Amino acid sequence: MAFELPPLPYDYNALEPHIDEQTMRLHHDKHHNTYVNNLNSALENYPDLQNKSLEELISDLNSVPEDIRRTVRNNGGQHSNHSMFWEIMSPNGGGAPAGDLASAIDSSFGSFDAMQEQWSAMSAPGSVFGSGWTWLIAAPDGSLSVECTPNGDSPLMEGKIPIIGIDLWEHSYYLKYQNTRLEYVSAWWNVVNWEEAERRYGAAKS
Ligand code: MN
Repeated sequence: MAFELPPLPYDYNALEPHIDEQTMRLHHDKHHNTYVNNLNSALENYPDLQNKSLEELISDLNSVPEDIRRTVRNNGGQHSNHSMFWEIMSPNGGGAPAGDLASAIDSSFGSFDAMQEQWSAMSAPGSVFGSGWTWLIAAPDGSLSVECTPNGDSPLMEGKIPIIGIDLWEHSYYLKYQNTRLEYVSAWWNVVNWEEAERRYGAAKS
């Protein structure tokens, strides 16, 4: 079929203690896998759409037939979001960004701390009500903003380029953090792969 579940780039337990092994197994092997299967089922009768890249597909949802548009939006968005999510985490992550990305964070937010404060405020249950994602978005001029998307929507659907993003669906944290979403959000910084974020930022600007 057109789309495939990418393997995790590290072991299921590699992000312990910040993200637990059982959560990673369920999240990758079950949740993400289901999005891929649902996307492929929706596209079964549309070979032309199967030949598009995932990014092409979800950034031009108006070209997707109406009878499968919602399914493609939800499951294609989540396939894209999760594929990125695994890559922007690492067992060697954490710390602070460097280089151009660090400079852009300073000029867009004042400081890395200020960006993290905004990130937490926007990721709180009262802000993203229900399920969604919080993203660091790069504009064409290199400036950065923190934005949220509801449900499985990707910033790519609005032509925006994500640099990092955190999954705020309960399936991503509930086994370990239960109702304390913001404890998960603050622990998550310990696994952010800033090298990958810096690579993505460089690509976004070029
Ligand atoms: Mn998820």
